[in-house]
Amino acid sequence: MLLTITTTHQPATDLGYLLHKNPARLQTIDIAAGQAHIFYPEASSERCTAALLLDIDPIALVRNHRGPAGEGFALEQYVNDRPYVASSFLSTALSKAFNTAMNGTCKDRPDLPDALLPLEATVAVIPAASAEQLQGLFAPLGYEVETEAHLLDPTVPAWGNSRYFTLRLRHPAVRLRDLLSHLYVLIPVLDRGDKHYWINEAEAEKLLHRGATWLPQHPQREFITRRYLRNLAQYVNPTLERLLEGESAPTDDLPTEALPAGETTDTYTPTSVVNDAHTPASPKQNLHDLRLDRVAEAISQLGAQRVLDLGCGEGKLVRRLLKNPRIEHILALDVSWQELQRAQERLHVAEMPPRQRERLTLTQGSLLYHDPRLVGYDAAAVVEVIEHLDESRLAAFEQVVFARARPGAVLITTPNADYNQRYAQLSAGEFRHLDHRFEWTRAQFAEWANGVAERHGYRAWIEPLGPIGSEVGAPSQLAIFEQ
Ligand code: SAH
Repeated sequence: MLLTITTTHQPATDLGYLLHKNPARLQTIDIAAGQAHIFYPEASSERCTAALLLDIDPIALVRNHRGPAGEGFALEQYVNDRPYVASSFLSTALSKAFNTAMNGTCKDRPDLPDALLPLEATVAVIPAASAEQLQGLFAPLGYEVETEAHLLDPTVPAWGNSRYFTLRLRHPAVRLRDLLSHLYVLIPVLDRGDKHYWINEAEAEKLLHRGATWLPQHPQREFITRRYLRNLAQYVNPTLERLLEGESAPTDDLPTEALPAGETTDTYTPTSVVNDAHTPASPKQNLHDLRLDRVAEAISQLGAQRVLDLGCGEGKLVRRLLKNPRIEHILALDVSWQELQRAQERLHVAEMPPRQRERLTLTQGSLLYHDPRLVGYDAAAVVEVIEHLDESRLAAFEQVVFARARPGAVLITTPNADYNQRYAQLSAGEFRHLDHRFEWTRAQFAEWANGVAERHGYRAWIEPLGPIGSEVGAPSQLAIFEQ
């Protein structure tokens, strides 16, 4: 695994001062299960490149119980991608080798850490779901992102690309310490094979520390936080809250027009909500659009190609999913014939070009009975549906979706009953919609989601949806289950 950082700032050899590493010397430091070598392949006053080469020893990984769990095949513990890919080992090496630079200190040249420099970083190689995923993570930070996909096996091109990319980032004017922090946080986020990576309170602190200046504004901050903390709900939610607190203190006095007043499923307007650092909702964006946008975004982040929309209603999510070119097929199912007719009309299915029409199956069915057509999908969305099922039938729903259909990921949204006290028109215990059979508090939803995940071999985490109110949370909640 090789990381290089290049600058053309003049004199380029300032990079040596900034990194606290002399361009003339090769230096080696020990990290868990290997070594990191730091050297300069080029160091002229026009152009200077520092390289960090990770030399991971797979045998030492096994000895230290830090390698893959080995559940795949007999020699997996020894034969794996760890030595070759950018993983949390790179972050460890960065913070060990370039600690002074990451903290923004430079004794000899105190002006340098704040200087905005033209910098280029290359990582070979990095695992990612897609080139778009790399774009989505680095482009919002101002980088020009170039990716090179690598074939799974160059001797058998028919097998297609692997999940490994060479990543090149170029920034015209960035502080070196920011570049290092971006890599430090985002590299472990991308590596899903990083099973050895131990999460504890300290990791959450590191994320808050290294992400403080840029993560709250990042459009994918929830995804980054979740992945960095390996979806451990006990760390993810408090960390997100603290991260966002740093951005803007909650206020309770926003005018009501500035609120995402639910227009479809949530027909009541909140009297007061807390200013939302969390959701980039425009004043006009309603809560339902916000939910659907987030679910469509999460499906795209998961890289799903075959998607179920269960309880699709009039097809609002389908419309969003059709815009995602990675999605090959959508099966949208609803129990209501009337809703399906409406979806046909709203989506103009009859006028769709044949190729587009082939991407979509709109069909009638019930989520309470096993349906073999639902098997073989990467992701299933169940948006504002479970609260329409009798609570006593949820066990049947669970069987149908999690035991029989078993999509790679399941995304379920439902109202958060804790928030209902903010709706003036709603008296205590009343639901937001006449057809709702129940509305769960955050604790109830979390308990159910954890139980389902445990029973069926999924990992689950919950995201708030909409503006977060103090005490009451956000108006809606999204549970994401991943196998
Ligand atoms: N997901 C859509 C619609 C939500 S409204 C959206 O977000 O816009 C709830 C939908 O669930 C309705 O369309 C209703 O017909 C459907 N539904 C209720 N019970 C169902 C069941 N048992 N199986 C399938 N769909 C069901």
